[in-house]
Parts: sequence; C-alpha cells; structure tokens
Amino acid sequence: MPELPEVETTARLVRPGVEGRRVRAVEVEWLRTLGGSSEPAFRAAVVGTRIAAVHRRAKFVCLDLERRGCPAGGLLVHLRMTGRLVVTAPREPVPEWRKVSLQLDRGALHFLDVRKFGRFTFHADPEAALAHLGPEPLGPEFTEEALWAGLRSRRRALKPLLLDQSFVAGLGNIYVDEALHRAGLHPLRSSASVRRASAEALHQAIRSILAAAIEREGSSFDTFYRTPEGKPGEYQHLFQVYGRGGQPCRTCGSTIQRLVVGQRGTHVCPRCQPRPRGAALAGRRP
Ligand SMILES: [Zn+2]
Repeated sequence: MPELPEVETTARLVRPGVEGRRVRAVEVEWLRTLGGSSEPAFRAAVVGTRIAAVHRRAKFVCLDLERRGCPAGGLLVHLRMTGRLVVTAPREPVPEWRKVSLQLDRGALHFLDVRKFGRFTFHADPEAALAHLGPEPLGPEFTEEALWAGLRSRRRALKPLLLDQSFVAGLGNIYVDEALHRAGLHPLRSSASVRRASAEALHQAIRSILAAAIEREGSSFDTFYRTPEGKPGEYQHLFQVYGRGGQPCRTCGSTIQRLVVGQRGTHVCPRCQPRPRGAALAGRRP
C-alpha cells in the first residue's frame, strides 16, 4: 500500500499538470470511489472550480479548490492498495482502470484503481476531514521531544502505535519495519519502555528513511505502485528488513524473521532488534 513517500511522489509529479487548471467536466466510472457522494453532487461541487494547490497530508493527496478566487473546498485522494493519479495531455487516450477523471482546461487528471479500494472524495472543509491525523513525521511538530513524550504516555506495542495515523501520520507497514530496525527496537516492545536515546534514534530513523525514500520516488515491490509517470520507485533496493524474511540481515548477518504483529506481516532482525522480556512487552505493567 502506498505510504508517505509514494503519496508525496504522486503529489509532486501531478502538481505541474494540474495546479492552476480549471475543472471543465467530471467523468465517473465507479461511483464508490466518490466515498458516498452522489455523482450530481460531486459534479456540482467540482465543475467550474480552479485547482489552487496540490499537496500531501499523511497518505492523502489534497487538491485545494477555488471558485472566483475564494476557497471552495477540496478533493482528498487516498490511493489505498492500487490507486494511482495520472495526468494526460489533450487528446491522449484515457488510461486503463480509470475510475474518475477531471477534464481540465488543458489535459485531464485521472484516478486509476485496479482493486477499487481507493477514494477520490470532495469535502467542503477538507481540514476538518483531516483533523484526526497526528503530526507529519517530516514536519516541525514532530520533534524528538514530542515523540519521546508520546511514547512515554502510552503502553502500546511500538509497531501498532507507529501505524496509528492519529499518533504520527503517513507511516505504514514498510517504513515502520525499516525505522524500527534502524533504531534497534523490536516491534512488540512497549512504547513506555523505550529509553530516551532509543526514542531519539527512532525519530532520526523515521525522518531519514522517509527522506531517502522520497528522493527515490518511493518503493515498488509489486506491479501496483508506479509514479504518475509510470516508473517504479527505487527505495525497495534499500530495504533492510521489509520483505526479506529468511535472508541475512545486512547489518549483522542474522536471519531476518517474519512475525505477525497486530495482523500485519512484520520483519525483524533477532540480533539488531532484541525481543523484549517481561515488563518491556506491551500490555504489561512494569
Ligand atoms: Zn541484524
């Protein structure tokens, strides 16, 4: 599933083709993609607006809309499993698996989705729709102090806590496994047991791994995630643990193990990430 680096890459690459463009028409092929809105209501909200800005928040691509220079709500795009955004030039054919298209005053923006779990929804107040999300891991609010305080105040296993979008936004299975490995922390360890130095290492790992993954346009390890230009990302070549069960750890040579934590396939190095005992396990009081 696309995570922060893949969604950031998507937002950056569609931006030049759609920012400042006006929406002339809307085509809907799979109604559920609109997330409960009717097609006429969606059309009425979006047609005639100008796309003022394209940005990312957590795992959403956000398109801010304007009408006659005034804010007019926004579109939130969640790629889920197999969603993609693609911009086409005028008279270019509609790409395969298209679910929704915005016809612009030049070219078009298409939402493609093989498995149809993705969403392309209109919100009169997009900020309110995103208010439940925690801080951006690359933003100014996500400091070492804030992460340390957040870990201390909870008694949850690290992996599910870091996947919780209200704790920190944009991380998913891949980048949590990679960050915990780099910080030397086991995914089942209780957040409250993490020492200050390890919290700092985790903060540093999250930020540097996300930045490196954005630089490489995300990770593609199956046929689904492609950039809007149709290219695979490159970060999968740098995975240390994710998807490497049974292979040697690149740091210490131990065999990477695959566990299930909170129903998610999880990859750990048994030597770099020692398994917690007793009080250090989530859910047990020290
Ligand atoms: Zn190792």
